[in-house]
Amino acid sequence: MRELPPTAGLPLRLTDLRPGRAALAAHMARWLGVEQLQLECSGTAAMVVALRAMQRLRPQRDEVVVPAWTCPLVALAIHRAGLKPRLCDLAPNHFDMDAALLAQICNERTLAIVPTHIAGRVADVQASLEVAHRHGAYVLEDAAQALGATQDGRSVGLLGDAGFFSLAVGKGLTLFEGGLLLARDTCLRDAFAASHDDTIHADAGMDWKRALELVGYTLAYRPSLLPLAYGRPLRKALAAHDPVAAVGDDFGPDIPLHTVSAWRQAVGARALPRLRPFLDTTRAQAVHRVARLRQIPGITVFDDAPGQRGAWPFLLLTLPDEAMRDSALETLWTAGLGVSRLFIHALPDYGYLRDIVADTPLPNARAFAARSLTITNSPWLDEATFETICQTLARAAGAGHAA
Ligand SMILES: *Cc1c(COP(=O)(O)O)cnc(C)c1O
Repeated sequence: MRELPPTAGLPLRLTDLRPGRAALAAHMARWLGVEQLQLECSGTAAMVVALRAMQRLRPQRDEVVVPAWTCPLVALAIHRAGLKPRLCDLAPNHFDMDAALLAQICNERTLAIVPTHIAGRVADVQASLEVAHRHGAYVLEDAAQALGATQDGRSVGLLGDAGFFSLAVGKGLTLFEGGLLLARDTCLRDAFAASHDDTIHADAGMDWKRALELVGYTLAYRPSLLPLAYGRPLRKALAAHDPVAAVGDDFGPDIPLHTVSAWRQAVGARALPRLRPFLDTTRAQAVHRVARLRQIPGITVFDDAPGQRGAWPFLLLTLPDEAMRDSALETLWTAGLGVSRLFIHALPDYGYLRDIVADTPLPNARAFAARSLTITNSPWLDEATFETICQTLARAAGAGHAA
């Protein structure tokens, strides 16, 4: 049995794990072509550090505007920073926020707007900038899924005022968990550094835990071992009708806030030279596969606009309705082919976020959650298997049309 991962993570090598120390933020800053980066223990931690800093600079503001369909950790990070998430519905059949709604939602309470580069696709940061700067708010880009993506040659994360990347499992380059924070101007950079010093502490126990997890990931991240590490828990959760657990969206309220050991940084620094070629390979594969998916009537697949060069961890697409999407997933989700869902719900529909996000009408976000699925862009997904996925999708979309 072989099992493909749901996203194209850069595989680590055993030699990456040899003893050593590095300052990863400096390596990554050079790699991204940015002046400065701040390393944090997760994307979520990066967001907590950034929002606390922003609030210290604009203390009368307490709301953070996020897309209603995004990673639940985003809502938990906002809550942890002592702020309130304000949800913006998506544009129809799109992952990005509805620009007209965004303009209505923002006001003098808005601390930050968080345009989100879902699936490595570059979101419309300009729309957020216009609204944010009209109201004196910041733009904090959520580039957790978009390390390496650019617009007009500039890295995402610096299109607005600030941004963060995730180095979690499944998001390209990984330290098992990690995050990178960047800001355009020195005032915010200094505030982020001060916020880090206040919020983040060394934790030897977490260093050991993450070190062991990183070794486990390095060993298990291959199609022959992923049935154990990923497939079995996935199928168990689906059999128990728990899709939230199946995609690993079942987060607790605890957000670890600690430093990243010099050894884990060294592991990332050793893998980093392989990241550009890996992103180029996955881009070439994605461009070709997006074109194939476009031939299937009823499927919407998300791509780069002119000037954008996104990252391609997986392909994000929608079917015409939930029944068709579910019919496609019925065979594909458990087949070990790297077909999955991204976020199961719009944020208010996660039970554990009930006290954190307000339940408002969010028709487009709920429709997107119900109609979307993802196909891994791992190089381990071969052409023939991709073609069988396409045929299953065509049947699912076509059957619905006939009915
Ligand atoms: C994963 C993710 C995060 C959180 O990053 P972690 O490194 O897992 O804490 C935030 N936003 C989005 C869109 C994500 O996919």
